[in-house]
Amino acid sequence: MMDGFEIVLSTDRTMMSNHHGKEFLGFMATGPAIGVPEKLWEYIAAPKVKVDSLGRPREAPYGMRKVEAKLLEAGYKAAIIDPDHLHKHLKTMKILMIGHHDYFAYGPPSSEWWSITGKEPINRVSFKKFMNSPAVRKAKEKGVKIIAGGPAAWQWLWELELWQKWGVDTIIDGEVERVIVDLVEKALNDEPLPDYIYVGPQDSPSIEEIPVIKAPSVNGLVEIMRGCPRGCKFCSVTLRPLRFMPLEKIREEIRVNLRGGIKGVILHSEDVLLYGADGVKPRPEPLLKLHDMVAKEVGEKGDIAWAHASLAAIKYAEDNYKLVSRLMNEYILNDHRKFLGVEVGIETLSVRLAKIIMPAKAAPYPAEQWPDIVEDAFKIMHENKIIPAATLILGLPEEKPEDVAITAEMLDRLRPYRSLIVPMFFVPMGALKKNKWFIRDKLTPEHVEVMMKTLEHSVYWAEDIINKFYLKEPYLLPVRLGLKIFLAYVKRKVKKLRPQLEALLRK
Ligand code: SF4
Repeated sequence: MMDGFEIVLSTDRTMMSNHHGKEFLGFMATGPAIGVPEKLWEYIAAPKVKVDSLGRPREAPYGMRKVEAKLLEAGYKAAIIDPDHLHKHLKTMKILMIGHHDYFAYGPPSSEWWSITGKEPINRVSFKKFMNSPAVRKAKEKGVKIIAGGPAAWQWLWELELWQKWGVDTIIDGEVERVIVDLVEKALNDEPLPDYIYVGPQDSPSIEEIPVIKAPSVNGLVEIMRGCPRGCKFCSVTLRPLRFMPLEKIREEIRVNLRGGIKGVILHSEDVLLYGADGVKPRPEPLLKLHDMVAKEVGEKGDIAWAHASLAAIKYAEDNYKLVSRLMNEYILNDHRKFLGVEVGIETLSVRLAKIIMPAKAAPYPAEQWPDIVEDAFKIMHENKIIPAATLILGLPEEKPEDVAITAEMLDRLRPYRSLIVPMFFVPMGALKKNKWFIRDKLTPEHVEVMMKTLEHSVYWAEDIINKFYLKEPYLLPVRLGLKIFLAYVKRKVKKLRPQLEALLRK
């Protein structure tokens, strides 16, 4: 029996879940239960994970695995513990570290769901439940230091009361590898801790300072690079320097996952096709080598997915090197892997607005070609069985009604291509706190048109995707049924929704 852990890392159920092995289902936790009972919704979005006798989950969020690895390498007794098993470590715990990518549902698309429905999204409800749980409260009473971080660390600045009420000692915002050991040392020595640490780009860790994870990440996610060179106005990733993980490191992490029983790999990057690229121009060699290695490691039956790719890189890679088809046909598609899922950002189809908010999104092509790049990339993906979940941003301060009207019109050009398109409303931070900001108060007829078109597009293709590609495994039958019930509900609603929304607008 081990002595116990002095540093425990944990989070709420919406994060500590493998979402049935289907990353995309995790998105359901960003909304309140719609059309199905809350329990069924939670079950679809965030089922419990397998744990060992100490409550260590078989797989855990990647970012938390990185912190755990850093602390283990520094010699601390640290472990990620499932939220249902925290009580087992109250005797030894001195620091509780918490990570999240959307603590309070202020990120997209949670904030949109929240402001459309007026109901708190499941992820927010679940995180509050976690912080109010007897184990976390007991830990605090015993003097355990609480440190919270992760990509949503900034959200605490909008929840000062909860920050104080729950006794969170330090919030750490940014890439933590270079600074976390010092902070932990201070906490263990009972030295005063800073309330908030912002880790700027100058403190971004080098490749050597980024450790290899020691235990599996959720659905086999591994990071292949950090940063993004495109500089979109609404995005913080872009401030960070671009770093490519060496193949050896990526391979090591894949092996950690496979040894831990995870059957696949999600290659994580803001733009997978820029791995080893020359600026924003994808290069065949690094990508072919990467995919060759990944395919060999996971074997015929292992899943492969990309986290994100940019539409310009998809077009450039295919037009210049037939690279997308090569990657798909030579390494990815087979009898077991029938499609590849990826997130992509359209954001707007208006050239005027694209030039203002994301001037380099189309690079190396000129921004004027953005709508054509989007369509060409969608066509390339459709022909190569890549299924994108694409985002659009509505309501940006720089937006004019004509930008939205153009986007609505252009969406027709994307209809033939298998994809999900999700509109996200730009919600001013903090406005949701008192639940006063409702999308319907800000909607213009052009927004309604875009929202209806994306909904109709996504429902149409979601049925096709479920019927042909997704959730085919027999053990996922209940999830499949749950989703079908949800889709049937959405379809009924869509029919009624357009006149309702138009009526709302006339009020
Ligand atoms: S392309 Fe994506 S990751 Fe890169 S700056 Fe733009 S929004 Fe951010």
